Amino acid sequence: MTKQLPMPSPLPESIPIPKADPPEGMDLVAVPTGVNHRTAAYAYAGGSIFDKRDFYIGSALIKHPQGDLLVDSGFGRDIVKQIATMPRLFQKMTKYEVWKTAADQLEAAEYDFDRLSGILLTHAHWDHMSGIPDFPDLPVLVSRRDRAAFHNPEMFGNFRGYFQEIPFNWRELIFEGGPYLGFPRHHDVYGDGSIVCVPAPGHTPGSVIVFVTLPKQVRYALVGDLVWQREGLTRRVERPFPIRRLGDFDAEGNRQNILRMVSIMQRIPDLIVVPAHDQRAFAEMNPLPNVTTRGLTLSAQ
Ligand SMILES: [Zn+2]
Ligand SMILES: [Zn+2]
Repeated sequence: MTKQLPMPSPLPESIPIPKADPPEGMDLVAVPTGVNHRTAAYAYAGGSIFDKRDFYIGSALIKHPQGDLLVDSGFGRDIVKQIATMPRLFQKMTKYEVWKTAADQLEAAEYDFDRLSGILLTHAHWDHMSGIPDFPDLPVLVSRRDRAAFHNPEMFGNFRGYFQEIPFNWRELIFEGGPYLGFPRHHDVYGDGSIVCVPAPGHTPGSVIVFVTLPKQVRYALVGDLVWQREGLTRRVERPFPIRRLGDFDAEGNRQNILRMVSIMQRIPDLIVVPAHDQRAFAEMNPLPNVTTRGLTLSAQ
């Protein structure tokens, strides 16, 4: 019997749906760089081992007239070298497939790299950071707590030896704004409400969720690794216990944020929720032009 989390109480009516004034031309674009071969059983409690889920590894490109942002970076050009620095057991357990790195895809799409103002990390784990060195000097926006965790040798899951050589251009996110949809604080990147980060600690000490509102009020929530597949939220199930124990910094904190997101999804039913590894969610974004990767495929339900 899979343990379903209790239904959270609805967001109080006193909490408003925040206003956003997204500029014309703003867009959200999927940049898939490859997959990790996994199963639903790995992704969420009660998932089947026969339900193959190729985890999306990649980026989302937010186009904004004040500067584009890549949310996470997907597989980078050095992935083989990077993986070789990981513990042997990890290497054995990680079956990945690289399609095309974000930098290569942007080049193929004849993208103007000067438009990029930074890489915004949902959290500082290897599969979200591998591509950063392909964008030398580009600011890397990260929460203070994850930046600290990244330098903590106890932190699980980074190519430590490899990343030590990289001069990261860190920029710490400051959550100067007040409450936002039930989260205690927020950071409004361009001051127009179109890109808003909130701290959502649990999976890592400083994980963040990025709310993106496009013209016509099309709303997305990029939830990083809060859950690995949408079922974590739609069925209110956490990662399986052993994986939670190994992979989550604070499982209880993560659970609270899952429930908070469930309340938000009830309040905003057309919110498009994007777990960082769910291909189905990225299929609801525009693709880059002129790019041939193996493309997004829908996982089995
Ligand atoms: Zn992670
Ligand atoms: Zn991840």
